[in-house]
Amino acid sequence: VTTLGIIGGGQLGRMLALAAAPLGIECVAVEPAEKAPAAIAADVIRATYGDRGALEHLARRCDVVTVELEHVPVDALGWLAERVPVRPSPNVVAIAQDRLLEKQALRAAGIPTAAWAEALEAFPEGTVVKRRFGGYDGRGQVMVPPGGTVAAVLDGDCISEAVVPFERELSIVAARDLDGAVVTYPVVENRHADGILRATRAPAPRLDSRTQAQADGFARRLMSAWDYVGVIAVELFQLVDGSLLANEVAPRVHNSGHWTIEGTDTSQFEQHVRAVCSLPLGSAEPWGVAAMVNLIGAIPDAAAVLAVPGAHLHLYGKEPWPGRKVGHVTVVAAEETELDERLQCLKLC
Ligand code: ATP
Ligand code: MG
Repeated sequence: VTTLGIIGGGQLGRMLALAAAPLGIECVAVEPAEKAPAAIAADVIRATYGDRGALEHLARRCDVVTVELEHVPVDALGWLAERVPVRPSPNVVAIAQDRLLEKQALRAAGIPTAAWAEALEAFPEGTVVKRRFGGYDGRGQVMVPPGGTVAAVLDGDCISEAVVPFERELSIVAARDLDGAVVTYPVVENRHADGILRATRAPAPRLDSRTQAQADGFARRLMSAWDYVGVIAVELFQLVDGSLLANEVAPRVHNSGHWTIEGTDTSQFEQHVRAVCSLPLGSAEPWGVAAMVNLIGAIPDAAAVLAVPGAHLHLYGKEPWPGRKVGHVTVVAAEETELDERLQCLKLC
């Protein structure tokens, strides 16, 4: 059997391990938290992500190792990569965990972004100051209005970015295998509140072929520049004129791709497992339309959710507390009107 090591045992590790099981692939996850969501489908080694004993165990036991989060010590990944294939490669994880390297990589690949500066600089349209390391779900960033002071709004190494007057937020999930074959999912629309993803519509309403092609090109250029293996997500801003800017890149499965479990031929989780385990990629064709709603801070009544036609409940086995993602609901439908009706019944968003 193939054994897949996963650095991280949260909900992404859980859904990766659930997708690996029917392929006959066993998973081992490293996770310091006491109740690891991945534990229902993976052996969990309870240790910090850089723990040498845990890494030695992974190196001995696994055929390949992947990550479910980018905030992993890169030296630990480098040590592992000398002993077992690590996909995507530690270099790429190093870029994605540092907003400065990430912006430089996007520029090098010719992918447009918001104006940005390595120093603390105020932009006329307003400024977002972001910590270089460790930010997620909008934590580690501060929005400063035009004319405001950007100095000392955050401690540590930061970059500054111009506030983008976007029309909407989109993202694209794509996968690349060891031979360089690529599949891309339809571009989706994401709605955030308080820096946290609330809901995804897939495909994005009013998606035209130009937008899909532009997003597709961003993902393909990055993956080929990085000789990437696995699933990647690129978060996008769409401007009023329809053009796209890249916001950030996740070298892993992504929250805006959860709808692919019920909404497409091959979920992003199975796709990632296939890619990193040297198996052929599957079709990313959508069945119809879908919406994914995150469950944040509270767990709804399961019976009420499941009474809605086309609704699928995913709980992560996490204790709810304010602001914490504890699950998601995906609703699928044949077309937009039916999807809207079903979402109204769901009363979650
Ligand atoms: P996540 O982990 O949820 O993706 P994050 O903490 O890594 O979030 P970003 O994706 O950079 O941070 O920003 C979170 C959200 O803040 C964005 O989805 C967007 O809504 C808003 N935002 C970030 N940068 C800008 C910007 N330059 N202009 C306008 N809005 C922005
Ligand atoms: Mg983001």
